[in-house]
Amino acid sequence: MKTENNLQNIISLSENIVFFGGAGVSTESGIPDFRSVDGLYNQKYKYPPETIISHSFFMRNPEEFYDFYKNKMIYLSAKPNMAHIKLRELEKQGKLKAVITQNIDGLHQMAGSKNVLELHGSVHRNYCMKCSKFYDVDAVMKNQGVPKCICGGTIKPDVVLYEEALDNGIFDKAIEYITKADVLIIGGTSLGVYPAAGLINYYKGNKLVLINKSTTSMDYKANLVIHDSIGEVFGALEI
Ligand code: ZN
Repeated sequence: MKTENNLQNIISLSENIVFFGGAGVSTESGIPDFRSVDGLYNQKYKYPPETIISHSFFMRNPEEFYDFYKNKMIYLSAKPNMAHIKLRELEKQGKLKAVITQNIDGLHQMAGSKNVLELHGSVHRNYCMKCSKFYDVDAVMKNQGVPKCICGGTIKPDVVLYEEALDNGIFDKAIEYITKADVLIIGGTSLGVYPAAGLINYYKGNKLVLINKSTTSMDYKANLVIHDSIGEVFGALEI
């Protein structure tokens, strides 16, 4: 039996599916993983992405942060792919309880998913550091250089930067969904970024599905491993 058929069966038989996705879900919508784009910072930037996208760097060099952030982390023309769309359908049918994502692009919501837990925040939410006024992503993009609030404060993306902690409330909710899940599908991540990658340890069931183009360090734990494009795998499902 083909592995895709196994996934179809697992999904058909479950009413409590949770999906946990990483960068690979977004790369198939044309959004590169800023950590894995070779030579990215050799071309233009003086520092590695992990340095630029850190809290201390943002506080010290907001101009350089925003130069990188606007050019390499925001892709407003990206559209949801088949993974986003089929997950939306599964939620509509009541079978999928939550999407937990490490991505910050809002593509799950654009596809129509309602219950999306964004572990690393979203480029679509931005706040003044002084008065907490909310700004959308257009307000950030249309500003030259560092976006400023009408009060004069600096606007900061609601994105979890390096050195910053994840939002405890969202992380706890993710743990709760995963603990109770019948089926856990993990896609588009090599499960290398902690603490998010540690979420897998909360799953207690026996239907753990891993979908990733390359092998992951957790393949041995999975009940079904599919090394393929997540968009194609979901696109082939009859949902
Ligand atoms: Zn303000």
